[in-house]
Amino acid sequence: MDIGVIGAGYVGLVTSACFASLGNKVICVDIDRRKIKSLKDGSVPIYEPGLDELVADGLRKGTLRFTTNLPSAVRKSKVIFIAVGTPPKENGEADLSHIENVARGIAAAMPSYRLIVEKSTVPVHTGCRIEETIRSNNKKRIKFDVASNPEFLSEGEAIHNFMRPDRIVIGVKSKRARDILHKLYSGFNAPIVVTDIESAEIIKHASNSFLASKISFINAIANICERCGADVENVALGMGLDRRIGKEFLKAGVGFGGFCFPKDLEAFIRISEKLGYDFEILKAVKRVNSRQKAGFAQKIEDCLGTLRGRIVTVLGLSFKPDTDDMRYAPSLEIIDTLKERGAKVKVFDPKAMKKAADILKGVTFCRDAYSAVRNSDCLAVVTDWDEFRKLDLKRVKRLMRRPFIVDGRNIYNPAAAKKLGFKYIGTGRLR
Ligand code: NAD
Repeated sequence: MDIGVIGAGYVGLVTSACFASLGNKVICVDIDRRKIKSLKDGSVPIYEPGLDELVADGLRKGTLRFTTNLPSAVRKSKVIFIAVGTPPKENGEADLSHIENVARGIAAAMPSYRLIVEKSTVPVHTGCRIEETIRSNNKKRIKFDVASNPEFLSEGEAIHNFMRPDRIVIGVKSKRARDILHKLYSGFNAPIVVTDIESAEIIKHASNSFLASKISFINAIANICERCGADVENVALGMGLDRRIGKEFLKAGVGFGGFCFPKDLEAFIRISEKLGYDFEILKAVKRVNSRQKAGFAQKIEDCLGTLRGRIVTVLGLSFKPDTDDMRYAPSLEIIDTLKERGAKVKVFDPKAMKKAADILKGVTFCRDAYSAVRNSDCLAVVTDWDEFRKLDLKRVKRLMRRPFIVDGRNIYNPAAAKKLGFKYIGTGRLR
């Protein structure tokens, strides 16, 4: 199929590269000229495992092209996916201006029938809004359909998630749109949920909010465990084996971050408010999450007595492992608090150093984990990159000024760390 993907970000790039690898002809459009130039040269501006290879393959075979020219991409594509950003406005609502711009651009360039698919995460009724925008800018009254096909990929595992999704959700109003999307996804081994556009839009927000709730729930349990001498890792195992609960997203930690959960939660709270419903559960999920981040910084302070003049090493900056995405990463708030209270902060992340350097000021960026812990008073694990699990803790202890570990992701075995002479404080584990 001839496919256009508007937006070459985490979602747009993965969508483009994956569809191209399945034999479709894909044109990916972005307004960011530098991004498009670098992609044309075969250099992928984000870190996502496996993406470099897929993009290179698509470019070599000619199934994947990049451009800044929206009209030309619209003319060449039968199906057009909108994958631009929907960042939060100050009041928490999603900013739909990028979507609106794209919709106007598509309307002006459509030469004949087109199917326009929203892949970005959007408030319910955005499909209607896109349809109205296109209709009012569609001077030649060309036929078109709008559909919703929310994306559920998770950064760090995006290609696997895209290629082997748990389900594909398609929100449509016409048989024509449904048939096109069915055909496009026919090779995927996943159930296809066909529904109306509004339900598809709600499925995305409900899913993300539910996952965020699971994280806040287990973080609340972790707080209880710390107070009563239980171990949240054991509790999560015992809960998760119940299939009604499931073991995914029951990892206690420093709180969730990233481009999706915080903004989508906030947006869903606002959407509900506008619809006359006070979504109290989600407000509590949000509160638990901000307390979790604050509580982690507090633990470091408690461990050291004071942060004034202390050197704290933060291992892991990206909001989760296997990505370089720093958007709303918990590390940012945690580091701010540590600095405010007088700590000197040394940091290391395997992939996010470049992006972090643009936004994090007043910290020391180190070349690896070992140089980051040198002379440090406390090692704080914020992101559970695999390479941190494999650190030689004996060497770490020799390098540190004080052998303190505050493990925000429970990547170390408390007994083993204590045996090596560390003062070890995990998350949801007996202090
Ligand atoms: P992103 O910021 O990485 O990418 C968005 C891209 O859109 C940018 O490259 C930007 O330059 C481009 N853009 C903006 N306006 C444009 C225009 N008028 N024409 C062409 N390009 C334009 O964002 P992302 O992380 O890929 O997220 C995109 C959407 O997908 C959001 O709604 C997000 O909530 C949703 N989503 C994201 C994820 C994720 O894990 N990142 C997962 C599922 C859904």
